[in-house]
Formats: sequence, C-alpha cells, structure tokens
Amino acid sequence: MVKHAPIKVDMEKIVSLCRRRGFIFPSSEIYGGLSSCWDYGPLGVELKRNIKEAWWRAVVQERDDMIGLDASILMHPQTWAASGHLKGFTDPLAECKSCHQRWRVDDLAGNSCPDCGGELTEPRLFNLMFKTFMGPIEDEASIVYLRPETAQGIFVNFQNVLNTTRKRLPFGIAQIGKAFRNEITTGNFIFRSREFEQMEIEFFVKPGTDEEWFNYWLEERLNWYIKLGIKKENLKLRQHMKKELAHYARECYDIEYLFPMGWAELEGIANRADFDLTQHANSSAKSLEYFDDETKEHFIPYVIEPSAGVDRSALAFLCDAYDEEPDKEEIRVLLHLHPALAPIKVAVLPLSRREKLVAAAKQIYAELRQCWMVSYDDAQSIGRRYRRQDEIGTPFCVTIDFQSLEDEQVTIRERDTMNQIRIPIKELRTTLAAKLSGEELFVLPPGGKIWKEGESV
Ligand code: ATP
Repeated sequence: MVKHAPIKVDMEKIVSLCRRRGFIFPSSEIYGGLSSCWDYGPLGVELKRNIKEAWWRAVVQERDDMIGLDASILMHPQTWAASGHLKGFTDPLAECKSCHQRWRVDDLAGNSCPDCGGELTEPRLFNLMFKTFMGPIEDEASIVYLRPETAQGIFVNFQNVLNTTRKRLPFGIAQIGKAFRNEITTGNFIFRSREFEQMEIEFFVKPGTDEEWFNYWLEERLNWYIKLGIKKENLKLRQHMKKELAHYARECYDIEYLFPMGWAELEGIANRADFDLTQHANSSAKSLEYFDDETKEHFIPYVIEPSAGVDRSALAFLCDAYDEEPDKEEIRVLLHLHPALAPIKVAVLPLSRREKLVAAAKQIYAELRQCWMVSYDDAQSIGRRYRRQDEIGTPFCVTIDFQSLEDEQVTIRERDTMNQIRIPIKELRTTLAAKLSGEELFVLPPGGKIWKEGESV
C-alpha cells in the first residue's frame, strides 16, 4: 500500500541498494570486475529463486498441459546451424574509426560515434554466440557454443518428451536456464548482460489454433507480472512491426516495462509456426511429426513461445517495489515486494539483548526457519532494525518483548502499513502463513488483538 504519490525511481538508487544490502555485486569485483557480468549476493539469490519458483509454479505446477525440462548448455553444433543462429544471430555493427568502439546500428541516431563523435565504418555482422572447444584439441572440429537461448534444448527434445510422457496437443515444455550472448552494447545494470538466465516456454499447438493460443499466452504472461505486484501502468504490450519480425515468425509482441531508462522489453511472445521443428527435422533427418489420433493426420505442430528473462524480471520487480516515504526527519526506504518474491519473509527481533529475551527469540527463529527464509537481528534500536527489514522488502517483523516472557505473546508488524497485531506464540506459524498468503493483518487468530506502537515497551 503506497500512501503518497509514486516516486521516480532512478537506476543509481537501485544499483546502490543492491550493492549495499547484498542483492547484486559486480562479478569478480576484487579484480576490478568483469564487464556486464553480475553476481547475486545472499538476498539476490533468494529473490531470483523466488522469481523462478513463482514462474515454475504458474506455468508448470498449476497446469496439466505443461511439463518441465533441463537441457544442457552445450549442444551439438548442428543445432545452431539448423536454428539459424550460426548465420543469422548477428546484429549489424558499426565501428568508430577513432575510439574503436562498436555500436549496434539500431542504437545509432546519426553517422558519428555517440561517445567521441568519430567517423563510423560501414555496418558489419558479428556473431553473438560465445565459442569454446570440446575436448583437448582446439581446432575447427571441436568448436561448440554456449547456448544463446534455452529454447533449442526444448525443440531437440520434442520427440523424447512426447514419447515418454504421452502428452497430447496442445501442451507445452518449460525450461529455466543460463544463456550467453556476446552482446556488443551492454549496460543498464542487469538489464543487458552477457550471461543471463531465461525462463522459456514452447507451447505446441495444432496449426489453425495458433492465433487463439498466442492471444491466450499474451494475457497469461502479462497477468503474471501484475499478480506478482508490478503496477499495471508500468507494463505495456508492443507489437513487432513487419520489418522487425524474424522471417519465420507470424506474430510477435514484447511485454515492456517502464524501467528507469524508459520502456524496454521484459519478455517476448512469438508465434514461431512450425519453423523450428521443421528445421531440426530436416537437419537431423528425424521425424518431428505429431500423429493426431482423432483425425489420423500427421503434421508438425505450431509453437507459441513466451520467452522471459530472470534478470530483467528481477530488475523490474526491484524498480517497481522501490519506494521512499517521509518518516519524521528521515526517509523510509522500502521495497513493496510481493511476499512470494521477498527474499526474507519474516524477521525475528528481540526487543533487547537480555539473555532471556534472546533465548525466547532464538527458539521462535529456529521454529520459523522450518517454513521460510527468516532472519534474526538484535543489533541497534528496534526502529533501525525495522528500517533495515523495510529496505530489503521483508513483509513481516516479529518482535519479542519482556511482556512476551509472561503472556506468551508477540507482536507482528506489517512492512507496508507499519500496523501491528499481538498474538499468542502458539498461533504464530499459522498466522504468518495466512498473512504471507495475503490475509488482511487485522484478521486475528484466537487470543489476538490490534496493537498500538509503544504499548509493548
Ligand atoms: P533485446 O532486443 O533486448 O536484445 P531480444 O529480443 O534479443 O532482447 P529474446 O531473444 O527475445 O531477447 O530473449 C528473451 C528474453 O531474454 C528477453 O525478453 C530478455 O528478458 C532476456 N534477455 C535477452 N537478452 C538478454 C541479455 N543480454 N541480458 C539479460 N536478459 C536478456
């Protein structure tokens, strides 16, 4: 719940919060960092796991027409010839004749270097795939590539999945995994990096039903971000123009988010028709056809591909959740993260470091850890400890005070409203579970009451 006009989020504040609180660090920082690679710290790794978990839950666990896969990053090099990546996975680049920086032609407004104003060469094609060698000999025959997308691992396993699961159309295969692209222009923090993670679905349908399924997935995927807390007004769908479309794609939309640097792609949803399966069938000389038992027809299914980035989603969730509120003479920085995404769900805070309080608090901490990621903090004033939790998006703080030792009750404080309730310790686990699933704070368990700031001291 935001009590004031939305603030304008700038990227520097997000980067600084991520660095300061241990969400994201530059890669290999002690050696000066590695350009456009990022390490997720203790809180970042939880955020990322929660995003992947929420996606998997929505697109695999809760559906009966989807299954998962985890293909390897290194694939047979012929995969990339068949998919068109070896030939076509390139962006035309122009190099500056004076500072030698290379620029994507799409990013250039004029004919001079945006950095130093130097003259640019004619655009050339460079392949964005990272190359390496398989085995001890570094020659042409042992070249393999780090996959630039996870999708091809799904297409090459289409028959395996069909044979082993006996799924019938329409059905989809989902995969989460690392992808690598030797991007020319990187930047905007984790928005565009050279190593990133994708969450991709290939949804196979009968030709002729593809448009209907395309529209279905557009809506489904847009709603996923909204359900997890992204403000509707910060999301939009952008249809690809004819000239932007890959030659095989029938239709493509980007889900765009209003990042601090402007509107940019969060996820792409494309109708790829039968292009990929046909290419792999021709290239491998294996049939990738589907047999329809009802109509007795053999055909190659069409595919709808919703392709999202874990890192871009993390950035969008962080930017959208970031907030600053006036707080007496200071500013309260907080992340309104959805409880499903918050790295830490509950913080356990003893009011002081007195031995008896600490022992009671540690017992509660140990119990709650069985259910969720929980943190324990007894350093500095309670106000400061609340602020520290607000800043990392912890939805609830549980405070143990002296009275708790007598009445076996604790207070729960809600991050967004700062409202508090006081409830019996024996109700804590079920109450927190209900609140984390979205129950109103003031719906009270037996023996619970609304609590006013300061009453517990
Ligand atoms: P862009 O036009 O921004 O380069 P793209 O259209 O090439 O993206 P896709 O190939 O559609 O991207 O990849 C699907 C998703 O993977 C993107 O929507 C994005 O979330 C993520 N993604 C792609 N490239 C990167 C990258 N370099 N860094 C981080 N995420 C990426």
